[in-house]
Amino acid sequence: MQYVFVLDRDKQPLDPCHPARARQLLKEKRAVVFRRYPFTIRLKDRELEESVTHAHQVKLDPGSRTSGIALVRTGDDTESAGTCGKVLWAGELAHRGLRIKAALDDRRTVRRGRRNRKCRYRPPRFDNRRRPEGWLPPSLESRVANLKTWVRRLLWSAPVESLSMELVKFDTQALQNPEISGAEYQQGELMGYEIREYLLEKWGRKCAYCGKSNVPLQVEHIVPKSRGGSKRVSNLTLSCQECNQEKGDRTAAEFGHPEIQAEARQPLKDAAVVNTTRWELWRSLSENGLPVHCGTGGRTKYNRIRFGLPKAHWIDASCVGEMEGLYVPPALTPLYIQAMGHGSRQMCRMDKYGFPRTGSKGPRRVFGFKTGDLVTAQVPAGKHAGSYRGRVAIRSSGSFNIQADGSIVQGISYRYCHLDFRSDGYSWSLKGAAFPPHN
Ligand SMILES: [Zn+2]
Repeated sequence: MQYVFVLDRDKQPLDPCHPARARQLLKEKRAVVFRRYPFTIRLKDRELEESVTHAHQVKLDPGSRTSGIALVRTGDDTESAGTCGKVLWAGELAHRGLRIKAALDDRRTVRRGRRNRKCRYRPPRFDNRRRPEGWLPPSLESRVANLKTWVRRLLWSAPVESLSMELVKFDTQALQNPEISGAEYQQGELMGYEIREYLLEKWGRKCAYCGKSNVPLQVEHIVPKSRGGSKRVSNLTLSCQECNQEKGDRTAAEFGHPEIQAEARQPLKDAAVVNTTRWELWRSLSENGLPVHCGTGGRTKYNRIRFGLPKAHWIDASCVGEMEGLYVPPALTPLYIQAMGHGSRQMCRMDKYGFPRTGSKGPRRVFGFKTGDLVTAQVPAGKHAGSYRGRVAIRSSGSFNIQADGSIVQGISYRYCHLDFRSDGYSWSLKGAAFPPHN
């Protein structure tokens, strides 16, 4: 279940409503479907001035592969609501950074191959690359652009008054350069989470001794407490359960890892650089003219555990920033969004020798359809008789492929296709099975 976005007669955003209410409005013909993804209706008989709207906040948890997005109602009828919120809509946005990188790597290999052989030659470009200030690699830029797009869509669809995003993994200000000032990890519960995030970043999210990742990591004292080791961050690392047990009351050097003892004294230098993309995102969100609140990863986790919520990108997004309470409707499911891009700029495919394999690329639209459009096809007779709904891949012959529920049906004529939703660079699912694992 997700709340439904509501627009007034003039397409101004109103408070999102419960899907049952939306069904009722549609049935009474007081509203029409305005957009399918995210599901939006438009009231035919209401204007913004006649309606009461509440404050909403768009919250983001930017991740490297998947980002969480949540729309939270912060203002309520009761004044006491304050920093409590209710999640109305959530999404998990899978980025295409890895595919962009793979495509660029492919192109580079092909060009280099052609130069090395004595054949059709593309002269190397030399010293003509100027990177503008704030340049990001294309794979990272696409992440920022995806989130920008979705924030803009939510701003059109709901009365949003502020944005909130997780800007950094841990709060360097709160930690105040822990290695030097000697912040101790028992200055409160929240500080514990900040320190943990700091250690995760510093030690690369893996066991410092055996290098195992994707296992539960424990905060470990390099010089054990029993031997007078301090509680300072410079004496802490992360290790898996087994290494922690095995090490016992030995120091890291005695355990055969003198390098860890040395490294622990070095503060994490590139704390700001780690988060380049997030800063760029913050900058571009600020351009919307709404206040952008920032939170840390430590606080997100602190909130999530305090509210007893499971780990998911969209839940992390809802938990970003300072807050007193959060209500997540039990039936709420996120919309799984996959960034698909808008086709390729390559003009024609090539064979393994780098020579053109096909004719130049076909038209982008065939009989009004574009690859990525969501269509319903009713095939009356023949081998493929039946009804299909899914993403279409166009062929200039007019014989299309339809991808639905993980299988591809080939050779469906354009004549049987009906356009449901025009491709906008994303594909959606409410099940979310076919998406990459988190981060
Ligand atoms: Zn280990």
